Amino acid sequence: MTTFLGIPSVGAPVRSSPGVGHLQGSESFPTAARRALGDSQLRSNIGRATTTIRGKRARVVGEVPDWEELREAGRTLKASTMARLPELLGQLEEQVTAAGGTVHWARDAAEANAIVTRLVQATGADEVVKVKSMATQEIGLNEALEAAGISAWETDLAELIVQLGHDLPSHILVPAIHRNRSEIREIFRREMPGLGTELPPDLTDEPRELAMTARRHLRRTFLRAQVAISGANFAVAETGTLSVVESEGNGRMCLTLPRTLITVMGIEKVVPTWQDLEVFLQLLPRSSTGERMNPYTSMWTGVTPGDGPQEVHLVLLDNGRTAVLADEVGREALHCIRCSACLNVCPVYERTGGHAYGSVYPGPIGAVLSPQLTGMTGDAVNDSLPYASSLCGACYDVCPVKIDIPSILVELRAQHVEAAAASGRLPTPEAALMKAAAVSMTSPFRWRLAQRASRLGRLLARGRDGQRRIRSLPPPLSGWTGTRDLPEPPAETFRESWAREGRS
Ligand code: SF4
Repeated sequence: MTTFLGIPSVGAPVRSSPGVGHLQGSESFPTAARRALGDSQLRSNIGRATTTIRGKRARVVGEVPDWEELREAGRTLKASTMARLPELLGQLEEQVTAAGGTVHWARDAAEANAIVTRLVQATGADEVVKVKSMATQEIGLNEALEAAGISAWETDLAELIVQLGHDLPSHILVPAIHRNRSEIREIFRREMPGLGTELPPDLTDEPRELAMTARRHLRRTFLRAQVAISGANFAVAETGTLSVVESEGNGRMCLTLPRTLITVMGIEKVVPTWQDLEVFLQLLPRSSTGERMNPYTSMWTGVTPGDGPQEVHLVLLDNGRTAVLADEVGREALHCIRCSACLNVCPVYERTGGHAYGSVYPGPIGAVLSPQLTGMTGDAVNDSLPYASSLCGACYDVCPVKIDIPSILVELRAQHVEAAAASGRLPTPEAALMKAAAVSMTSPFRWRLAQRASRLGRLLARGRDGQRRIRSLPPPLSGWTGTRDLPEPPAETFRESWAREGRS
């Protein structure tokens, strides 16, 4: 088989097909965000939840004296892993196979879905239990299984709420962050009796009661399941060990009870050694849930006769990752360990929530990763995502592996502008203004003229609170002054002032 960078999955860098899975919505970010901004309940739910997680994260990170050194170690490890990715994936495949597991390679979402469906069908099962997994959401596995007559039951509490609510996740770590307690109680009341779980008539919205109800519902599902499907947070190449970290123990049930275990993992999740894993197991819980360590860290290496799943499969998923790896600036996005710290500090995410991004990866990392995986294809949806940021840099400050998200966003914006210019599309008002600015700024004479012309703006300035500001400009500049004021242009330029001072 031909390879790209030696990775046996592909013959050339591949993009994910936006038509399969959940990497691309149907609306541009501004359109979807405008609707989300009008939902005050959603904004209040998300604002409250992100504020709480932010506070917890800041407290536990503050306890670690060498946090910055840990972040740097995480960044360096990820960069060196990406540089050796083909070799490490080969080693992982060898070790998993030697331990009794089977490795499958999937170029894209359709291929991964077909592999998993075939494996489930081979067991004769018509249902599976699932551990929370971003990779399987990315490829739309539940829908693919459903089309093949196989029911997929989410077992993570938040994922269960999303599934029962016929909803979409809106946060990487807390997929039901947009729901409050009473909404969750209503979902349980509406859906669970139809699935065979009796609910007490006086069910309240107390978290403990809701959790106990979900537990009763899930327990029956765990005990009858023959097949489990998981993602993986990490895979240790030196021993072929896979790892899932979680908070509820539902993952542990899925990973140990069923006879067959199928894991779908993005190829970037490999780490070389157990010593490297140690760094990420410190960085991840503090950055994600604000805990000192994960309540449940499950690890398994192939098949152990008589103990746990007796058939173990690993599906290594590309789905656009090799194309991202080929991009010198953008490849850093593959370092992401899906902690969601960048979402919790993002002023844009906090106001719009995750659905506005149209992808399973919302927030700052989603604004980067979703268009990278599917390609800056010139459509309004992908092209709008790199602009879903104020570039304030808060995401970079909290990222445990120091991904420079603002720089990648700027790079993607540049790619968008270049693609638009190359395709001869009509320039946007912003692009036309930038072009005009470039023309005037590349000649001292033209720049002087432009500065003088800007004085015309003084005619538009109005005073308020002792300050004169320009509060509205004619189209197309009205878009700018619709949400901001401009300072009144000075009466004289710096050069004029310099010349005057020099004369006096
Ligand atoms: S980009 Fe960084 S902060 Fe955001 S989810 Fe990934 S690892 Fe966490």
